[in-house]
Amino acid sequence: MKPTKSCFSMFAAVLLLLYAIVGQAQVTAIKAGKLVEPETGTTAISQTIIVEGGKIKAIGTGLTVPAGATVIDLSNSTVLPGLFDAHAHMCQTSPPDNRDLFTVDIRQPSTYRAILGVVNARAMLESGFTTIRDVGNNGNYADTSLRRAIEEGLVPGPTMINAGRIIAPFGGQYHLQPDRRELGQPEYLFADTRDEIRKAIRENIHFGAKVIKIVVDDQQYIYSVDDIKYIVAEAGSAGLKVAAHCMTEKGARNAAEGGVASIEHGFRMSDETLQLAKQNNVVLVGTDFTEQAAGYLGLPPPVAKGFHEVFIDRLKRAFKIGVTMAYGTDVFFAVEGQTRGTLAVSFIDSFVEAGVPAKETLRIMTTNAARLLGVDKQRGALKVGQAADIIATPENPLDNIQTLKQVSFVMKNGKVFKPAK
Ligand SMILES: [Zn+2]
Repeated sequence: MKPTKSCFSMFAAVLLLLYAIVGQAQVTAIKAGKLVEPETGTTAISQTIIVEGGKIKAIGTGLTVPAGATVIDLSNSTVLPGLFDAHAHMCQTSPPDNRDLFTVDIRQPSTYRAILGVVNARAMLESGFTTIRDVGNNGNYADTSLRRAIEEGLVPGPTMINAGRIIAPFGGQYHLQPDRRELGQPEYLFADTRDEIRKAIRENIHFGAKVIKIVVDDQQYIYSVDDIKYIVAEAGSAGLKVAAHCMTEKGARNAAEGGVASIEHGFRMSDETLQLAKQNNVVLVGTDFTEQAAGYLGLPPPVAKGFHEVFIDRLKRAFKIGVTMAYGTDVFFAVEGQTRGTLAVSFIDSFVEAGVPAKETLRIMTTNAARLLGVDKQRGALKVGQAADIIATPENPLDNIQTLKQVSFVMKNGKVFKPAK
């Protein structure tokens, strides 16, 4: 039978009807007992959030719930924007019996790394992290594939800003031997001259990097202030920011002077360098290891304690000086009975220990990180027009920041990932 004109119009009518039903089903109303705005550190009572098309459409008291909307009752919980981890490594997991990254990395092919990424990304979302910045060590662009799969809805995970391969002076973070110099790849793009640096940045962007990560100072020879300014300009001309891994005071000083977007780790930073970072709007992503997390690295207890104390001292000084901070963890290891998400959220303990107020810690985990990642127009706050990245906790994190370890509900882009019990 030939299709007739009326057949087509009926088909169109059915499509329209389906569209209307599906469109309607996308409206969700969240009843929030308490609603926290991290930017101002304030709490509002009995709020309704209307979510449509993955975004926040309306928010306030006494809002009419649209007919047919799905209602989520969080009236006994505190509702807040999803958390951020600005220093993650999704496609890298060192097993408990081997923390030597060099051997772990060369034994794990990129295909396996992508599978690790799927597992870690799901765990991060489960713990309330709806946006992350992945700063490299992902094999041969397994992170780009993971980001793509998350964006396409193939696998659940946070919104990702990924770094691709890390750009570093020769050797990267490994100590190579001359017969096997290729073993530094594909984790790193070795770039020493200006031409090599420019090419590395372009190659990285071509293969899906959304941020440029550099290692400033893991060798005796380090990137100079001029090198870093050149990197910042070259990445910036393509719209990308630069994250700089800094282990030494000198490396951090060069990065702060060179005007990177963020200094990673920076645990040896002097007060003067912290001051310079503040002046130049450089964000500190401190990866502030708790004593327990330092122990997971396989360090003997006194060494782990000392390592942790250096972080706490720098965290206290950074807070006092007022340098902008964003939450970043650097978890790259597996621990029995824990997930990547539970490990990442445990770094809160360092902020508590350093005496950073809950209000500030929450801002570091949301508002500040969203700005650093360049997604603050879309994420990091519960406001009309923002993506519906919404989590809930049993208590108000402004009263007890530890409640973030018990995230009971997770929505990302308006889709419920972890339903409220
Ligand atoms: Zn790291």
